[in-house]
Amino acid sequence: MSKCFDAQDMNEKMIEKTLIADELHTAIAEEQWVLCYQPKAELTTGKVVGMEALIRWAHPSKGLISPAHFISIAEETGQICAIGEWVITQACRDILQWRSHEVQAPNVAINVSARQFQDGEFFEKLVRILANHDVSPNRISLEITESILMTNDEFIGDILKNFKKLGITLALDDFGTGYSALSYLKYFPFDYVKIDQSFVRDINTNSGDAAIAKAVISMAHSLGLRVIAEGVETDAQCEFLCNHLCDEIQGHFFSRPISAGEIENFLRADTRLPEHLLRMEK
Ligand code: C2E
Ligand code: MG
Ligand code: MG
Ligand code: MG
Repeated sequence: MSKCFDAQDMNEKMIEKTLIADELHTAIAEEQWVLCYQPKAELTTGKVVGMEALIRWAHPSKGLISPAHFISIAEETGQICAIGEWVITQACRDILQWRSHEVQAPNVAINVSARQFQDGEFFEKLVRILANHDVSPNRISLEITESILMTNDEFIGDILKNFKKLGITLALDDFGTGYSALSYLKYFPFDYVKIDQSFVRDINTNSGDAAIAKAVISMAHSLGLRVIAEGVETDAQCEFLCNHLCDEIQGHFFSRPISAGEIENFLRADTRLPEHLLRMEK
């Protein structure tokens, strides 16, 4: 009986996946996307030092759809390559727009999937899009997850080194959720480690999460990397991270992901973290 239900369940999932992949086809052709930005604040100064570009699907009848509902399908079908190109292009257009309004935008971080790296032309495409928009590579960082590193070490290592040579900043995203081999931090040229929000959520009450966060910060620092905590929602979490010398925070506590236009106001207003939450420098 349960087998039968399982089969039915799987079948429904397959159909839904196929439907979404089909709709993604139209979404790519019609550019049904919106790019939001979530500011990152530095814990020593309280200032915005970067922001992460996060895609949403502006579906004509279903409204805004979160990436959690379509990125993994687009990765499976390979559609993520076209979507990813749109993201890079749109980020460049937004940077130009901010520039034309005389807003000095901080570094923009772009999420990249393993599948995009496997497309042999990813490096050239990214470089070309940046050059076409007159955006310097040092305005951009790439956030990648461990799944990329597990595919083909040498090839990935070479691409990452080439990005780094160009001046692009590299961040290891969602640290702690995958294999989290410490050797990744030694062998690949990362600048940042992002502590996954699953460790931040209960950082004040769960001694295991607190210990992991502290260990990641201290290990990353001893390797010369900076640390960003994601999913920071409360001042208590912020205070903990500050006391344990985390470098930057990102999360609803400082700002939700907002539109390119709202980012402009956010930056113009010189929005900062409250002073009492800043790190006291020795
Ligand atoms: P991520 O890169 O780890 O991004 C962080 C996620 O945490 C975002 O979800 C963000 O909105 C959410 N978040 C930020 N602050 C808080 C907070 O305080 N509390 C909670 N509960 N959540 C917070 P989002 O935007 O739904 O994106 C989910 C994932 O989708 C991203 O995880 C990333 O892996 C992927 N993604 C988003 N945009 C792109 C893209 O352009 N390309 C690719 N390949 N993947 C993307
Ligand atoms: Mg990310
Ligand atoms: Mg993340
Ligand atoms: Mg995450």
